[in-house]
Formats: sequence, C-alpha cells, structure tokens
Amino acid sequence: MRIVTSIATMQQLAKKWQRTGKRTGFVPTMGYLHAGHMSLVKRARQAAGKSGVVVVSIYVNPTQFGPQEDFSKYPRDLRRDFKLCREAGVDVVFTPADKEMYPGETRSRRCESADEPRFDKRGYSTYVVEEKLSQSMEGASRPTHFRGVTTVVAKLFNIVLPDVAVFGAKDWQQATIIKRMVADLNFPVKIIVAPTLRERDGLAMSSRNKYLVGDLRRQALVLWRAIQTAQAAVKRLKAVPAEKLKSDLKKLIKTEPDARLDYVEFFEPDTLAPVAKVMRGTHMALAVFIGNTRLIDNAKL
Ligand code: AMP
Repeated sequence: MRIVTSIATMQQLAKKWQRTGKRTGFVPTMGYLHAGHMSLVKRARQAAGKSGVVVVSIYVNPTQFGPQEDFSKYPRDLRRDFKLCREAGVDVVFTPADKEMYPGETRSRRCESADEPRFDKRGYSTYVVEEKLSQSMEGASRPTHFRGVTTVVAKLFNIVLPDVAVFGAKDWQQATIIKRMVADLNFPVKIIVAPTLRERDGLAMSSRNKYLVGDLRRQALVLWRAIQTAQAAVKRLKAVPAEKLKSDLKKLIKTEPDARLDYVEFFEPDTLAPVAKVMRGTHMALAVFIGNTRLIDNAKL
C-alpha cells in the first residue's frame, strides 16, 4: 500500500491509471476509520474490479467545520487507519496536508462568525456551492458545512480522478448533495451509496462515537429508538401526520437526561422535500446532541 501526501504525486498516479485503463474506486473519509468506512472500501473494490485500484483519502477538512465545532479535537489515528487500509487491500491512502489543500489558511485567527474568512488574500478563495438540497437539516444547523463538503469532494475528485466513488447512507443528505453536484457539474464519476453499518445494539458507527463515555454511550441509543418508534408507527397506522410523529419523538428524546434534539425531519429520499404525511418509504433523519456530541442518523421507514 502506498501512502501519498502530495497532490501532484496523487494526480500523476491517477493520470497513469487513466492512461493504462485501470478503474479507480475512491472512498473519501476524515479518518479514525471504523467498520462502516471499511464496508465502503469493500464496495469500492467490487466496483473497481480485480485489476482496478482503490484509493482512500484521509483528510479532516477544515472548511466543513463551523468555528465553534470540533475540528481541532476531531479524533485522529493515522497509524491505525493505515493498518486497517493495508489489511483491507487498499492500494493508495491519500492524506494531504492542510497547506496544500488550502494555501494561505490562517487557522490561528479566532473566527467569531461562520462567514469570516479563514484564508489570507493570497490564499484560497474558490468554493463549490449546492443551493437547494443543502438548505435544510444539516445545512440549516451548520450553515457552511455543505459548502465545505462539496468543495473538498470536488477537489478530491480532481486529484484522484476516480471512476467510482462510494459514500455512506449514514450521511444521507451529504450523499444526495454529492450526487446532485456530480450531475450538475458533469463530473465523470459514478456515485455509489452504501448502507449504514451499526453496532450490535443499533447505534450507527461513527468516528464521533469515541466521545461517548460512560452513560452517554447508552443514552446515544435514543437515536436508534426514535427510528424504530417511527418505523413501528408507520407499520401500525400506514400514514402518520409528520407533526404528530415529530412531537412524539421529541418527547422520547427528552427521556434521556443528556439528550437534546436538534432536528427530526421526514422527507422524500431523493429530493429531500419534506412530507406532511409519513408513510412507508418516507425517509427520516435526525440530529441529537448527547452531552456535547452531536450525532446524526437516518433511515427509510
Ligand atoms: P467521515 O469519515 O465521517 O467523513 O465518513 C466518510 C464516509 O464514510 C462517508 O461517506 C460516510 O457517510 C461514511 N460512513 C460513516 N459512517 C458510516 C457507517 N456507520 N456506515 C456506512 N458508512 C459510513
């Protein structure tokens, strides 16, 4: 397995693969890898084929974190990540430095508002913005988040030149926005969305689960319980008013002492359009603070 940190080297490799007709499967991540990430790697391997190559990027992207969020303390363990990738048969791990991805970043500056530029004038100033699907849910709670995501994914696509890229259904809105970006901007990349991997008790795997110490780990199960409650209601009643179900789930979340609901939404899976009546096939997503840790989950009902 090769570890590449330079953008130029990664691009040269990618161009060589293109010239020689090797299919490239790509899995972008922020590292601190778990079984959920590795299931995407497996899917990428399938899609690239035996003679193809699999690239995993590990990059904690500063532009997708708000000023008050956990960028600096986001969990990192590159040695362990490399080991997991090596064992999974990954060909290249691409792990670029901030100063190459975003030249001119002035991270020492304290940002008071989300809009304050973090880059000096000679540095970075181009962004990719999806304007519709990114307004609700994660976009409403984290105003500059998706701008950071679409920008870094576009950059990574231009660096890795993948034929196929695999994203997790765990971040449903993100995957939907990436598919839209790829269609709108004509990236020659096929997007695959792979299912959410869960712990045995139902908690969706996430790098941020590391923050859940002591009783918080137990309380975090309330997200899965909320999904199961909605699933049971839809099964029992066929069509449930979204507002009624939201208020029931709010109450459920409140039963855990350190849980605070950020949002719960019911929507059409492809367009993310909110629905008034929740039915079989409606998609549900929620974000809940468990102590200081913000967790998200979603499911088709
Ligand atoms: P992250 O490192 O959190 O940015 O995630 C990188 C990719 O892994 C994204 O496409 C996520 O949706 C995906 N992912 C994260 N958690 C899971 C999970 N539990 N199951 C499947 N995919 C996941």
